[in-house]
Formats: sequence, C-alpha cells, structure tokens
Amino acid sequence: MSSGSQVEELVFPNCENASEKYEKLAKIGQGTFGEVFKARNRETKALVAMKKVLMENEKEGFPITAIREIKILQLLRHENVVQLIEICRTRAGPYNRFKSTFFLIFEFCEHDLAGLLSNANVKFTLGEIKKVMQQLLNGLYFIHSNKILHRDMKAANILITKNGVLKLADFGLARALVSKGSNPKYTNRVVTLWYRPPELLLGERMYGPSIDVWGAGCIMAEMWTRSPIMQGNTEQHQLQLISQLCGSISPDVWPGVHKMELYDKLELPKGQKRKVKERLKPYVRDQYALDLLDKLLCLDPSKRMDCDSALNHDLFWTDPMPTDLTPMLSRHTTSMFEYLAPPRRRGPIHPQAPAHKPAHNPDQHFERVF
Ligand code: ADP
Ligand code: MG
Repeated sequence: MSSGSQVEELVFPNCENASEKYEKLAKIGQGTFGEVFKARNRETKALVAMKKVLMENEKEGFPITAIREIKILQLLRHENVVQLIEICRTRAGPYNRFKSTFFLIFEFCEHDLAGLLSNANVKFTLGEIKKVMQQLLNGLYFIHSNKILHRDMKAANILITKNGVLKLADFGLARALVSKGSNPKYTNRVVTLWYRPPELLLGERMYGPSIDVWGAGCIMAEMWTRSPIMQGNTEQHQLQLISQLCGSISPDVWPGVHKMELYDKLELPKGQKRKVKERLKPYVRDQYALDLLDKLLCLDPSKRMDCDSALNHDLFWTDPMPTDLTPMLSRHTTSMFEYLAPPRRRGPIHPQAPAHKPAHNPDQHFERVF
C-alpha cells in the first residue's frame, strides 16, 4: 500500500479518463494480477494494451506490487522491453462506488510466444529461432545491466510484434538487484514452476541474473518442442524432472549445493546422467543450438552462461544467420495470445485432475511432456 502522493509522483502524463481516451476492443489476457485488453487511442488510432491494476485486495491506496512494476518499466527503455506509455484511470463516480480503476497502457504487440507456439501452422526456421533467442537474450542483457531481475520468464511473457520485434513483458514480479555486500535476501517463491531454476527450488535467497537465464534456456528448448519441457506438479517433482534432464544435483557438479537449505529435506534423484543434448537432439538437431542449450541449462548458477557470453555464442554468428521474422509473421493475420489459444500444455496443475498427477514412471512422464 502506498500514500496518494507517491502515486501522483508516479502517474506522469496522467490520463484521467481511460474510456474517453481509449476504446476497448478485446480481452487478450487474464493473468494472476488482472485483465489485459487490446484497445485503441480514439484520437491517434494507435493500438495499445491496457493492463488493469488489480485493487480488490487493497483496502486503501495503490498496490505496492504495481508501483514496483511501474517504477521498473519507467527505468527500462529498450527495443526488446515492452514500453509503458502511461498510467490511466477511470473517472470515479456513483457507477463505480467512487473508486477509480487504474490501467497500465502499453504499446500493443500482436502476439505472445505462447500463443505462437500453440499454433501448429506457425513454423519457425532455424534462422528465425536464432532471431527470437538473440532478441530475448539482448533484452535480458539490457535489464540485467540495469540491475533488474525479471523473475517470471515464460513464453506468455514474451511478446512479438507483427514486425518481428521481441519484447520482454510482465515486470509484475521483477525487482532491483541490491549489492552483494548488503546480504540481500529475496523471496524464492518466484518464477512459474516449470521455468524455475534448481537454486530457487533448493531455497536460495541470494540469487542473481542467472535465474532468468535458466528460463531463457527452457524457452529456447520450447521453440522446438512447442510445449514446456519440464512440467512438474510440485517443487519436488520439478527437481526430479530437472535431474532427469540435467543430471543428478550433487556437489561434484555444483560445489556447495549440499549446504543449501532444502538439499537434505528434498528427495533428489541419485545417479542420473546429464542428457540435455541427447534428449533434445531429436527436436533440435543443430549442434550449435544444442551446445548453447546445454550451457543455459547448467545446474550450478555460478557456471551457467550469462547473456553476454550467450550472445557471443557461435550459434548467432554462423549460417543460417538470425533471420527477420516479418515475412513469416505476415502469413498470419490474426493475433496469437496464450489466453486465446487452445491449451498447448497439459495445463496448470489441478489437484482434482488425475491427468496432472505425477506418473508412476517419471521417465515415461518426461517423454510424454516432450
Ligand atoms: P500477468 O501478470 O497478468 O501475467 P502480463 O503483463 O503477462 O500480466 O499480461 C498478460 C497477457 O496479456 C500476456 O501474456 C500477453 O498475452 C498479453 N499482453 C500483455 N501486454 C501486452 C502488450 N503490450 N501487447 C499485447 N499483449 C499483451
Ligand atoms: Mg504474465
């Protein structure tokens, strides 16, 4: 919660009447934190995305989480980061019990990556996948250079414009990195389970940019597999799936891991070989791509490749070179968003749904997910 003056400071070219300025066209997203609409500026006709600030749980004032998201978005200006245009509110009156709603207004992007991957008609060539990953790593490199962690990397939070420009979006869980000396303790309950790196699952609270790199690795593999590669049902199950792909988690490959809070408390599979390349080869084929995937999906966060080195990887500097996505996207005239797409995955896990329970043979489960 925050005082009114703090909000006013934030609410720069403030727009006081959202519905007078913008015409809502369609609902395109329903996240944990509210609805997102496609809308049009009535005067300029520019398309925007309006993200509603959820105030329901707030007794008074503006939610601190939204303030954090706005502050971070205001700091970050880059071609590969979604641009916040302004904050807009609805006029308060008797029809809304004198409570106005706030919207974050963004530049509109035609697709999100989850929507694109869920459509079998959308086919990416190797050069196009390179272009997606190069832009994704470029955006991440920029935010990490500005000491911001995204903390919610996943395909639905990656937007792509019709001109083939990728934008990192959803800074709802993002936060600023503080200097190591001050012994920062961040929450480890971040990042959607399927994209959560092993250090977070083991209880690490002094993590860094490498948590986003793990997510980038999961997304990269998904460019070929078309659905998330490790769909765990619980934190324990997620660690099992990680061990089956990346090998057993042990001090041999990750010095010091045995000192982590949950290392002894969770059951970690023993004797698993690392099979990243072997398991992804049938989908990926390209040797450079397999090599980069192997380096992004490194168990030990201190040895995981950073964005700068990843951008210098041979993958991006050998034929086929990263290819403009525009011609491919121009063949698809409808917007593709996760919210509008048929379920691409076995879905968020519901205790009631037996199909989502862990399989008896975890290996068999793993194969099905791919
Ligand atoms: P949440 O925190 O609710 O997940 P997001 O910012 O991720 O909020 O928005 C939810 C969805 O809305 C995204 O997955 C995407 O499909 C869509 N969306 C968000 N911002 C934009 C935008 N600028 N242009 C187009 N679609 C967007
Ligand atoms: Mg989101």
